[in-house]
Amino acid sequence: MSLPKLTALSEGRYPSPAWDGELRTSFLILSYEHRLDNRKHTIIFDQHRQDANQGRIGLTLVMKCPPDSLLSSFSTMCFSFQETASDFLRLCCHFVISREHNMRSMRHKARTVRPCDQPQMCRVRLMLLCLCVLVATTLTLALLLSNQQKIDLDLPPRPPDLFKDKFSHQPGKPTVSQVKRLVSQVRWGRLWYSLLRPLLIERQPGSRGSRVFRKHIFSQLDSLSAGWSVEVDSFIGVTPRGPVSFSNVLAVLDPTAPRRLLLACHCDSKSIPTDPGDPQKVFVGASDSAVPCAMMLELVTALDPHLKFQKQMLVFFDGGEAFEQWTPTDSLYGSRHLADQMSRIPHPQGSEHTTLLNAVDLLVLLDLIGAPEPLFVNHFENTARWFDRLIAAEKKLHKLGLLSSHPNEQSYFRKDVDMGLVEDDHVPFLQRGVPVLHMIATPFPSFMHTMEDTADKIHSHTVENLTKILVVFLAEYLKL
Ligand SMILES: [Zn+2]
Repeated sequence: MSLPKLTALSEGRYPSPAWDGELRTSFLILSYEHRLDNRKHTIIFDQHRQDANQGRIGLTLVMKCPPDSLLSSFSTMCFSFQETASDFLRLCCHFVISREHNMRSMRHKARTVRPCDQPQMCRVRLMLLCLCVLVATTLTLALLLSNQQKIDLDLPPRPPDLFKDKFSHQPGKPTVSQVKRLVSQVRWGRLWYSLLRPLLIERQPGSRGSRVFRKHIFSQLDSLSAGWSVEVDSFIGVTPRGPVSFSNVLAVLDPTAPRRLLLACHCDSKSIPTDPGDPQKVFVGASDSAVPCAMMLELVTALDPHLKFQKQMLVFFDGGEAFEQWTPTDSLYGSRHLADQMSRIPHPQGSEHTTLLNAVDLLVLLDLIGAPEPLFVNHFENTARWFDRLIAAEKKLHKLGLLSSHPNEQSYFRKDVDMGLVEDDHVPFLQRGVPVLHMIATPFPSFMHTMEDTADKIHSHTVENLTKILVVFLAEYLKL
């Protein structure tokens, strides 16, 4: 260890005010370069003899250091020693050396403490504190919830609000594997051959074809395990051609359910005069609306294992078409009748304020489906969030490669196009406040209401794709 560089600035004697004026005290002013921070410090060593008899020298060291210096904490040191004053300088050197040593130790300690140690300690403490708070909060919440559960168990269940609940209903979020599994249940062969083909007949209200249609619906729904309860809503309607017998077909899962989704299409075919040159050819209305009816049957068949206890309703409206010119009285016979009936039936049973119509959360109406490259637009702002689910389902299935002949991820459902309102079987429900999602191809297929609306005009990939999209929609809506 080398001695610090000490330089004597001045030395002499001064009178000690504490004593009797005798010049008994010597002083020495030394300066040295501080080795720690390379700054010059002036240190005054004030020496005075206190007890000459015992040969002891009292020494007061006043170290005048910059206030921010590490040495400033040792600004005044007192000690005594028994050496003579002649060794004073050497002792001072040792003193300074020992101070330096202490300073280095402190600096070393300061250096060995990593700069981040203290913040780290703080972080650890903070984390521990947070953990404690979290545990305490969790325990408190668990306690509160268990108490709440007990209270909930004690209270009767909240009666459904048929007006508000439909607007707060949130869709589920099926996983990719669930979507793949559900969509894989759609069978084009079944849809085409078993479900659609028997419907490609004349189905005018009150006709034999209409009865064949109903028999087909009954047998298909009867073959399923979900537990559909099917009934016919028959009535006589006044038409420009006289009284006609109409029959809506209603299929309901869980008739006591307070609220439900209503999936619908019209089942009748328009009355179109046959061509005298080809009297055997009749209007079968493949896209209008045999395909939508077959799609509805395929949907409930594909999802059958998941529909038990679900709150869903299928309606096949009779008499959607006009017999002559479309007017408010010559059209929508079945839907007008059913909406009126449902608005008169108390629901839940015995209710004085709500009816079966209030229980319809959403009416999804399918129409004019089957032509290639269809376009479906959003018609109603209050159901736009459900239209968004159709858009999302199309995109999702496209990305998963589950749609065929589908070049763009958003081909069918467009929210940015306005095609205007279309009068259809939803109108009597819409007028009574039922939220509607109208899935009708606009522009209409070019062969609409012509003898050309036949099976060979139906684009199989489009129908299969749309059925898959509706599977995803139902899976989300019903949280399957
Ligand atoms: Zn039509």
